[in-house]
Formats: sequence, C-alpha cells, structure tokens
Amino acid sequence: MTLRAEFRCLSGCPGGYPLTQTIYRCPTCNGLLDVWHDVQALRDMHDAKGWRDLFDRRRCWGDFPLSSGVWSKHEWVAPELPVEHIVSTGEGHTTLLKAEGLGRDIGLPNLRIKMCGNTHTGSFKDLGMTVLVSMVKHAIAQGANIKAVGCASTGDTSAALAAYGATAQVPVVVLLPKGKVSTAQLVQPIASGAKVLALDTDFDGCMAIIQELANEGVLYLANSLNALRIEGQKTVMIEICQELGWRAPDWVVLPSGNLGNGYAMYRGLAMMRELGLIDRMPRLCMAQAERANPLYRAYAAGETEVAAVKAEPTLASAIQIGNPVSAPRALRALEATDGVVAQASEQALSDIAARADRTGLYVCPHTAVALACAEQLAADGTMKPDDEVVVISTANGLKFTEFKVRYHEAALADHGVTATHQNPPLELPAELGAVREAISA
Ligand SMILES: *Cc1c(COP(=O)(O)O)cnc(C)c1O
Ligand SMILES: [Zn+2]
Repeated sequence: MTLRAEFRCLSGCPGGYPLTQTIYRCPTCNGLLDVWHDVQALRDMHDAKGWRDLFDRRRCWGDFPLSSGVWSKHEWVAPELPVEHIVSTGEGHTTLLKAEGLGRDIGLPNLRIKMCGNTHTGSFKDLGMTVLVSMVKHAIAQGANIKAVGCASTGDTSAALAAYGATAQVPVVVLLPKGKVSTAQLVQPIASGAKVLALDTDFDGCMAIIQELANEGVLYLANSLNALRIEGQKTVMIEICQELGWRAPDWVVLPSGNLGNGYAMYRGLAMMRELGLIDRMPRLCMAQAERANPLYRAYAAGETEVAAVKAEPTLASAIQIGNPVSAPRALRALEATDGVVAQASEQALSDIAARADRTGLYVCPHTAVALACAEQLAADGTMKPDDEVVVISTANGLKFTEFKVRYHEAALADHGVTATHQNPPLELPAELGAVREAISA
C-alpha cells in the first residue's frame, strides 16, 4: 500500500504534478495549486484511532525528526519524502496555553493561545518552511537544477527560509521591503548567511519581483504561493485538536495577511474530518489590520473576489499586505468553516497587546490583531462566553521590541496610538530614600 501526494489545480483543472517539480501555478488556468493527498490510501493504512495513536506516540517518543510537530504527521504532509531528506529544527509541538487572565478580561473565559512563536526562528513560518526546504533537498538529490531558494518577506518568512536553507546548505536570497521589518527580523537572515536584498518598496512590490525571478528560473520560490508551505502550516490545526484530546474547538482566530495560513488551517481540519479524527469543524476568524484589510473589505461587501488595496503602514508589519496571493484559498476556507473576517485598528491592537502582556503573555502585534478581533466578536455576541476559542499566536513578542518600547515610551503618535497602559521605567538617583518612596507610591 503506497501513500501518494501531488500538486493539483485548486480550481479542479485535470492534471497532477510531482511535489519535486518546480511548478507554482496551474499550467491550464494559471490559478493556485493545492497539494492533493490520496485520502483513501491513508484510510486503508489506519483507521481514525490508528492515526491518533500514531501521532500521540510520536509526540511522546518520536525520534528526531519525527518528533517534530510537522514531521510527526509525515504521512499526511509529504508521504513520499524520505526521512533522511527532512530538514528540521524541531518545529511545532508548541504549547496550547490556557489564557485565563486575558480570557476573563475579554469575555472569553475559555480562551486558549497556540504559542507558535515559541519555535526556532520565532514565528509559525517554521512550520511551512521545513516542508518546502526538505522537498528542495530531496529534489536536488534527485538531480533537480535548483541553485538558490528565494522569497519576498515581511520578515518572518525570510528568517525561517534563511535558517532552514543554512541547515540544508542551500543558498538563500530574500527580498525585504526596506525599513519595514523589525531589527530582529532583519538580522536573522543576515546571520544565517542569506543574500539579503532590501528594496525600496513594500511587501507587494517585493512579491511582484520575486515571482518574475521564479518564473525566469533564477530561484526556487519559497513564498506561500508555493503550496508546499501550506502542507506544513496545516499541522498546527492538527496539533490543536490533538492537544484538546482530538476535539475541535468552537473558534480558531488567526492574524491574516497573504492568507496562506488561513487556508492551511482549513486543510488541516478537512483532512482530520475526512479521516474521522474530529467530528465537526470549528469556525475560522481571519483577523486583519484595518490598515491592510483587503479580505475584510471583500467579506464586508459580500464580494466573491478580493480586490487588491494599497496596504498602509501598520504596527502589525508581518500582515501589511494589500494584494494577498492566497485570496482564493482563503475564500474557500471561509466558506467551508462558516468563517468570519474581522479587523483591528492600530489603537485596538496596541492596547490589547499591553493588556495581554499584563496577564503574563508577551504578544507580537499580529497576535494582538487576532486578540482584538476576538474581543470584538465576543462583545457583539458572535462568540458566546462559553465558546472555546483558540487564538493562533504567530510570532514571538521578542521579535518586536521596537513596538513595545515605543508603546511604553508613548511614542506611537505616528500610528495615532495613545498608550493607555503605558508603564515606563522611573529614573531615580541611587538613594535609598528615593527608591523606598518610589516603591510605596
Ligand atoms: C506571515 C505571518 C502572518 C500571516 O500569515 P499569512 O499566511 O501571510 O496570512 C501573521 N503573523 C505573522 C507573525 C506572520 O509572520
Ligand atoms: Zn487550473
């Protein structure tokens, strides 16, 4: 019995292509590709209990790299990829935190946060990148002529690609919008030895150029236009249900920019449904920054297509995207999950980040967008107080020091933000009396 997966057209044009082939779009309609799995073969291999037991066993006792969150689901991700070609940093298997303090505060006492930023390069991008770079390594071993792998990035994709590329010793090129990524994000690919090109444009401008380069064959494209990324990212949804004892929550909320991640959540859910590991779908909420909200606009207007917008500067810099590549995928995910789209202002995301931090979290601005949207949906009754809500925390707050420093210095006026929960340090002379007084004040 052999498991099989291949690229197929998302819109259903005939034809399948090996996952080792360099192909990003459907040759017939130029639309997006999807990774198709032979679900019947998976069903024949194990029943639902068999898969649950296998995944649980690997979570506890899997040997590296099958101990990783992604590769513990090897058969569901890239079944034909030999284990010796897996390029892993032990990604995934992050904590599903019970955020009781913040949950009570925002009217969702059953709030949980999936801490995807607690990973090797500090963002959930590791989950997709391990699959893509592993497949590249495998393709090269089979004789593929791939000289370099490249991406356009708002910061986290390039950090992940550069680290996995360095692990596999594959050359990496990254295009970044100059001045629009955090210091931590910029230094990550530099340190990993990638060729870092900072362009005088925004993410959408970088994305347009990298697609041309990929089409010319200059490099292999690592953006989530490449459906391999989705296959790794979908495992976070499998992990969430696994941590809940193979049960789906009521809601999953995630910050959304290029929209690959939202679709990945749906893909993970759909496979678990088809193979009987869960018996119902949660509702998805895709959370956007008000300043970069093409999906929200389409959703609010009831459109069936997403029109590109010019993304304005947002503190949620990783989702400052006006022309999302995976828009058709996201619309599909929303329809299949009775999903909703919400948006958060700069003020709302800044304040909830500060409130979340005061309950012991340390959230990145994108996670803050998702939390602000969850609070809104709780307030307007879309989410019920006893709903089990999982917010995907996409990056580690430590990558966004500038955002937090500026908030607590009340220096975010350029984003129209008033720091209502400011907590600046007090500067004092080194005198016992002054210190004592400051503590009791
Ligand atoms: C990439 C990214 C997102 C958005 O994911 P998309 O697939 O682009 O929608 C959200 N948060 C962070 C921190 C990211 O790096
Ligand atoms: Zn097609």
